[in-house]
Amino acid sequence: MKRRYQLVVIGAGPAGSYAALTAAAGGLDTLLLERDREVGYRLACAEAVSLEGMQNFIDPDPCFIATEIDSITLTVSSGYRIDYDLQEFAGMVLDRPAFDRFLSEKAVSNGAELQTEAYACGLELPSGNPAKVVIETEEGHRQVEADYIIAADGVESMIGRMAGIDTLLGPDQNDSSLQYRVSGIDIDPKTLEFYIGEKYSTDGYLWVFPKSDRAANIGLGLNPAHNDCGELRHRLDNFLREKYGDYKIEFETCGLVPKFLGLNNLGRDCLLLAGDAARTIDSLTGAGINRALHTGKLAAETVLMAADGSINRNKMVSVYRKKVDDEIGRDLRLFKKAHALFTKFNDEDWEIFARFLKRYLSERKAGSVDPAAMIKSVISGEPRLVRLARHLF
Ligand SMILES: Cc1cc2nc3c(=O)[nH]c(=O)nc-3n(C[C@H](O)[C@H](O)[C@H](O)COP(=O)(O)OP(=O)(O)OC[C@H]3O[C@@H](n4cnc5c(N)ncnc54)[C@H](O)[C@@H]3O)c2cc1C
Repeated sequence: MKRRYQLVVIGAGPAGSYAALTAAAGGLDTLLLERDREVGYRLACAEAVSLEGMQNFIDPDPCFIATEIDSITLTVSSGYRIDYDLQEFAGMVLDRPAFDRFLSEKAVSNGAELQTEAYACGLELPSGNPAKVVIETEEGHRQVEADYIIAADGVESMIGRMAGIDTLLGPDQNDSSLQYRVSGIDIDPKTLEFYIGEKYSTDGYLWVFPKSDRAANIGLGLNPAHNDCGELRHRLDNFLREKYGDYKIEFETCGLVPKFLGLNNLGRDCLLLAGDAARTIDSLTGAGINRALHTGKLAAETVLMAADGSINRNKMVSVYRKKVDDEIGRDLRLFKKAHALFTKFNDEDWEIFARFLKRYLSERKAGSVDPAAMIKSVISGEPRLVRLARHLF
């Protein structure tokens, strides 16, 4: 590690590695810090991404693909089920540790320096001067200076708060998730399964995402404000017993999925937040990987503009905010509203919703569905749901 860099990126998840690889490709002297001993070491993720979303940033590589997805099923409490065929290889379930390593290696091959076992534990942002990052390493504390910082330190992000940015998540602004890696089950390796309604989750959903034809990530999200902590395990265990009978839990992970908090807290001075640290996640689905790549890219592009003088350094945060708003702001806001609406649904509403959705999907070509337009259309097709949806549009 040197004493000074143009850019320090904190966190080598998808947001941080993508920011580092973009910045390094643009010629910035970039340090990428990861607290763990290897990239992708501790991960709580169901690992599903759409191909289209990913291809905007990186070509899919067999080294990080566990299964290729070509269909989705949605089951509501009554057992009513929608089977929807997507295009072939419309999405994938990743090998997330391999994916995260792949991205960080790309950052390194573009010229970034990766430092693992390097925990950013302190920050100074003196106005107009280089920022200082204090780093805890095996050899003790080090301090590096940086012209710019991108904090991509995930949902637990401390860096934003160290900079005085209010990124605190209230109990209503995140979901708690519990997930098992389950083996010894018969499963369609090309289908993502979603389960919604009161039987499965009071305000989230249950997922079965295949890792092979005999194993899957099976998990559940619930809002901690309205559920006690035993509820997740109780519901997940019931589901497994009822659906599979015989199965083996290989390991379990738990994690928080933040809700989108708006675009007012994306940075300060020469510091930009990206990925989960910026809370730029789809509040409805909890999908954050492609959003992390996207905001990592936009943050790095903004830093590159400041570094080459095409924008003033003190305009960085507003330029970055506008880029994020222009490219994903509409969807982030709609998904947040839709999530707030869906938490009001009871089983009867879900049944109505699912029946309309089935009809809507049957009238469209596989792969041509825009999720935002679909939600609006399905909800506004049924008077009972329209009443609930009056705050959505
Ligand atoms: C149970 C669960 C299931 C999910 N399933 C999906 C899914 O199927 N599809 C999807 O798209 N999204 C899913 N998500 C969300 C997705 O995992 C996140 O949105 C995504 O990982 C965000 O990427 P990121 O780079 O912002 O943060 P992270 O992936 O969290 O990476 C942050 C990195 O920063 C490091 N770090 C943290 N603090 C410091 C520090 N101070 N110094 C140095 N390093 C630090 C961490 O070790 C980590 O490597 C799921 C989330 C959960 C909890």
